[in-house]
Amino acid sequence: NYLRHVESMAKLPSGAGSISHLNAVILGESLASEENDLIFPNVEFSRQALVSSPQKYFEMYKRSIEDPAGFWSDIASEFYWIEKWGKEVYYENLDVREGPVKIEWFKGGVTNICYNCLDRNVEAGLGEKIALYWEGNDPEFDGKLTYNKLLYKVCQLANYLKDVGVKKGDAVVVYLPMLMELPMAMLACARIGAVHSVVFAGFSAEALAQRIVDCKAKVVITCNAVKRGPKVINLKEIVDAALVESAKEGVSIDICLTYENPTAMKRENTKWKEGRDIWWQDVVPRYPATCDVEWVDAEDPLFLLYTSGSTGKPKGVLHTTGGYMVYTATTFKYAFDYKPSDVYWCTADCGWITGHSYVSYGPLLNGATVIIFEGAPNYPDSGRCWDIIDKYKVSIFYTAPTLVRSLMRDGDGYVTKYSRKSLRVLGSVGEPINPSAWRWFFNVVGDSRCPISDTWWQTETGGFMMVPLPGAWPQKPGSTTFPFFGVQPVIVDEKGQEIEGECSGYLCVKCSWPGAFRTLYGDHERYETTYFKPFPGYYFSGDGCSRDKDGYHWLTGRVDDVVNVSGHRIGTAEVESALVSHPHCAEAAVVGVEHEVKGQGIYAFVTLVEGVDYSEELRRTLILTVRKQIGAFAAPDKIHWAPGLPKTRSGKIMRRILRKIASRQLDELGDTSTLADPSVVDKLIALTDV
Ligand code: ATP
Ligand code: MG
Repeated sequence: NYLRHVESMAKLPSGAGSISHLNAVILGESLASEENDLIFPNVEFSRQALVSSPQKYFEMYKRSIEDPAGFWSDIASEFYWIEKWGKEVYYENLDVREGPVKIEWFKGGVTNICYNCLDRNVEAGLGEKIALYWEGNDPEFDGKLTYNKLLYKVCQLANYLKDVGVKKGDAVVVYLPMLMELPMAMLACARIGAVHSVVFAGFSAEALAQRIVDCKAKVVITCNAVKRGPKVINLKEIVDAALVESAKEGVSIDICLTYENPTAMKRENTKWKEGRDIWWQDVVPRYPATCDVEWVDAEDPLFLLYTSGSTGKPKGVLHTTGGYMVYTATTFKYAFDYKPSDVYWCTADCGWITGHSYVSYGPLLNGATVIIFEGAPNYPDSGRCWDIIDKYKVSIFYTAPTLVRSLMRDGDGYVTKYSRKSLRVLGSVGEPINPSAWRWFFNVVGDSRCPISDTWWQTETGGFMMVPLPGAWPQKPGSTTFPFFGVQPVIVDEKGQEIEGECSGYLCVKCSWPGAFRTLYGDHERYETTYFKPFPGYYFSGDGCSRDKDGYHWLTGRVDDVVNVSGHRIGTAEVESALVSHPHCAEAAVVGVEHEVKGQGIYAFVTLVEGVDYSEELRRTLILTVRKQIGAFAAPDKIHWAPGLPKTRSGKIMRRILRKIASRQLDELGDTSTLADPSVVDKLIALTDV
């Protein structure tokens, strides 16, 4: 059925024309017309694209669904395997009624992802190509490594880790900021078959300790300090505290390899525990610059990573080697229409899945040149991103809606000051991107010529699940369009029945794909309960989604966030987008609250643009904006002025906390350990009655 539906989509006119309706929409003449607002790819772009038309996409998609084994093994064969996988390319059981959930890809195949990222590219003649550019927090610091040099350094670190006793299957916790040493540490672990667990270097000692204990880490790799904007953060102190905690829980760490980050803090000023703490620079360079690879089975674990915790306690997602390798490389290549001459920058931190799949593994598997940025996007000022883009001639820029909205609030002047002419493709991830932010990104940042890859995926999925392949599809602002090859998204109703055509419901996936996670670490039961029991036979994403008359997909937020007002199911994302389309509204977060008459009412937290004051009039205008764009039933019952919103450290709005504030259940705020700035919560509570 899905194939039929995509097939009809593939008949859409391609290439022709340029930007339809766009001006009218910006002027507010047809505000709710996103659905009809097709933005066609530039003809020149399509001509050179890897997938140049909906028809071409459909041919490839069709094969990936009808013959997944053939489709994926052809791609997998482009990588180096010391032994090929067995007869069965994949095995899956996603149906809890048929027994334990199990997914395997390329089982029996023997390979190594570090080898495929580095040695294979060096052998192919890319040794002197830049693998990593590093841009420091302060603009005067930078660095770079070629593929040769990166391989050399990874081998030294791998040899060190082996020497201190790290073996295949052992866990290594990495708590590093965005230095080149972070991907280096991941690759070194992968080279020797160790399992890395990267913890975002913004987490508290408590959160770090929990993660060290959970995987029973053998070694911790960190650095002494990092500068974020003008502030120095003493990471080593946080690690010290975490190691005290983890020891209490029975996991004591004998080796804490510490990189001296000279631009942030001198080693003399670092607290030190002799015997346990070791300076990276003192030991690692002494090791040989070649290191034999530990060949592993495709299904051997590669890493463990916790989800951002937007909806509750973070889950320890486990990814294995072979399928993840093939999937991240392929999604990277097609989603960004990758060319060997590209310079690629993804603003995500390697502490998140985006930094695993699309700062480290995906791009390096393609032999790409990647930028690692240590600092903050608004330091020294809000032009920093565009400055970096000009400095390195970045052609692919991949970021998050939260950053787009915040830079948009700072005004166009910072953007237009820079040329940005190297840009070819833009990307977005993390939350639904509001159409108004999409348009700003497209028009102002990309000068209306760069397609936007709005990638819908999750820590659990390993790689992109839905993405508008640039050059192939006419885009609609705010829609992630269509599935990637091999992915079969379905929308189901409450009873788990697939619904077709124009509809809205729970987003699930039918059948497995190579990059799927295999379990939640140490808790296969929670894996099944959370993802496979709600709708038996399917993987349940937890997200809501609607499909429009043209078959385009629109993420409506977490299903827990859907608000039911007098029987109308309203996605919070939709109301937020309407609010944000008002020029004075910088950001909005909507939650449902109990309502005597309507069942649920709409409660909106609104952050205003710099310099605009709260007023009754603005409150009324905002409500009116929602009424006009969506309908009276979606009009907010309450607008709560918010100087800031509670966000996870990956920049996502934490609605579960907002729900508690909205319903005044202040003593039930729950786990706030993954909040970027807990003080926001008090400020919000203080404004409850304004
Ligand atoms: P937790 O699962 O712990 O609550 P999380 O879901 O925020 O945290 P991630 O795996 O980092 O952790 O994020 C995946 C989620 O982010 C998706 O389920 C979806 O809700 C949202 N998301 C990511 N990309 C997009 C996108 N392009 N459009 C819409 N939503 C997106
Ligand atoms: Mg999630």
